[in-house]
Amino acid sequence: MAFRPHENLWQITDGQRLRYLGAVLAMGVTNLCIFAAPFIGGYAIDVVVEDDFAYGHPWLVDASTALFGEITHVGYLWFSALVALLITAFGGCFLFLRGRFAALASENITRQLREMLFSRLHHVQASFYDTADTGDLVQRCSSDVETIRVFLASDIIEIGRAIMLLLCVMPFLLTKDERLAWLSLCLMPFLAIGAYIFFSKVKEVFQITDESEAAMTATLQENLTGIRVVRAFARQGFEIEKFGEKNAAFRDNNYRLIQLMGYYWATSDLFAMSQIGIVLFVGAVFIQQGSLTAGDLFAIMTSVSMVIWPVRHMGRVLTDSGKAVVSLGRINEVLTEAEESQEVVPPAGRARGEINFERLSFAYGSGLPVVLDDISLHIAAGETIAFVGPPGSGKSTLIRVLLRLYPYQSGTVQLDAQDITTINRQWLRAQVGVVLQDPFLYSRSVAANLAVGRPGAPHQDIIAACQDAAIHQSIQSFPDTFNAMVGERGVSLSGGQRQRLALARALLKDAPILVLDDSLSAVDTGTERDILQALSARRGRQTTIIIAHRLSSVIDADRIVVLDHGRIVQLGNHATLAATDGPYQRLYAIQGALDASIQADVAVTERS
Ligand code: ADP
Repeated sequence: MAFRPHENLWQITDGQRLRYLGAVLAMGVTNLCIFAAPFIGGYAIDVVVEDDFAYGHPWLVDASTALFGEITHVGYLWFSALVALLITAFGGCFLFLRGRFAALASENITRQLREMLFSRLHHVQASFYDTADTGDLVQRCSSDVETIRVFLASDIIEIGRAIMLLLCVMPFLLTKDERLAWLSLCLMPFLAIGAYIFFSKVKEVFQITDESEAAMTATLQENLTGIRVVRAFARQGFEIEKFGEKNAAFRDNNYRLIQLMGYYWATSDLFAMSQIGIVLFVGAVFIQQGSLTAGDLFAIMTSVSMVIWPVRHMGRVLTDSGKAVVSLGRINEVLTEAEESQEVVPPAGRARGEINFERLSFAYGSGLPVVLDDISLHIAAGETIAFVGPPGSGKSTLIRVLLRLYPYQSGTVQLDAQDITTINRQWLRAQVGVVLQDPFLYSRSVAANLAVGRPGAPHQDIIAACQDAAIHQSIQSFPDTFNAMVGERGVSLSGGQRQRLALARALLKDAPILVLDDSLSAVDTGTERDILQALSARRGRQTTIIIAHRLSSVIDADRIVVLDHGRIVQLGNHATLAATDGPYQRLYAIQGALDASIQADVAVTERS
């Protein structure tokens, strides 16, 4: 997705500014209408107090006379109230428009932000997720975006409204009474300075609050994901306590934020009320001196209160904008994260599946240990090759490098004699069907999970893939067979069923390369045999890479590679390796002895 991160809250409104302008103008019309009320009220009071229609507005006096035949105080007041009501209702229509424009603009911006975030999270380099905290990322995509939405939905308009009100009210005040007009602004500088200090403080405290909320979300997410482990290890008490600490930290920080806002509100209220009090006090003196009428003072007081309210409201605007600046910063950290490079033109057609590693060395990052050390290996198209070796010897890493999830430091990796660094990543990954030890399944139906492998696959292909993966019978036993929901909302699959469903998904993909990364570990040996037999019937159709700890999975492979500390230490077929003194022979002997002992135990149990 083409985008550039927004550096500030002004840039973020790009593309929606006309809507905001519309909202501010609608707000202007509303304010003008609301502003007409004190005018009309002021004239009405003067007419009644002075008992003289010369104080009334000529237009109101004429219209009232035309309507009621003769001019009376009651008729004039009624008519004034009616006009004020109609004007206020007219203003109400524009208030609706204001809300509509502002909501459209803010919702569009936040939707775009969410999409940009989601898209970027799908395209960042794989190493980003080695250190990223899922809960924190969720917080950035939800809560931080929401903070910005709140600011965009109302605060921008409030800023426009305050400016507009000042611009409308000041000329009116100046025409009514210049002395009171300036007096009504005398405490504004103090409010402005206070607001600026408050803004900086809010930013600082909100940053801490937002981060503590993210830490709490991360703990929650981690616990929900690993709830089974937590229960299995009876760690509920510990985890609840840990969550309680994060929760308390969030509460304390949030409380500080609310306290800060409370101080500001209280102080700004004091200033605002003092401002009104000063104008009222001095205005009363002017009335006593005879230099101001009661109606004028009413109109001035109402206008000053109208301006003071949005100015006071700037405190909220400042709080929200302080929060929005912090949230935008956190969002930008994701949006500026480097993406995987994309070679634009994918090679045409389907790969043959020939893989060549040439003096490949790899480490997960500079300063980190070398995980693959000078690997040279040619895998012919259609070959079945197995990798065995102790945990951490680099077997899975080899696949990650092949998929271009991580860039390698030296040597070359080729697919069909073409350097993989020059191949479009998406196309490259489409050539490989991977089944992991702990596969991820969507909380969707069985059919939808299979469709991830090949959308729109014919029914007979789906059945064949499920049969080869030995999951077809299990699916048939589900209440809704292929429509059964997987996961929280549906059937709970055993580890072996999950692996077999994931295998069926990969078989359905029918990619030129199939990788089984310890993906039959949770399957019983009988089923494993059935699956391997089905896979051997597919032999030659695709290059098959089997990573396994159980040697029964690799015995039939064309070649077996033994890895240790990132180096190839043995290479050959089962018969040769089993007959050669070395790690494979030792592993085979240990596993053979283990299997024999298990079988003996089973036999004893069955007899007794
Ligand atoms: P195997 O599949 O043989 O069990 P791996 O290829 O998963 O081993 O891991 C090889 C080594 O690389 C291990 O020492 C492991 O700790 C390290 N490693 C694996 N993934 C990462 C990663 N994302 N960042 C840093 N080191 C890693």
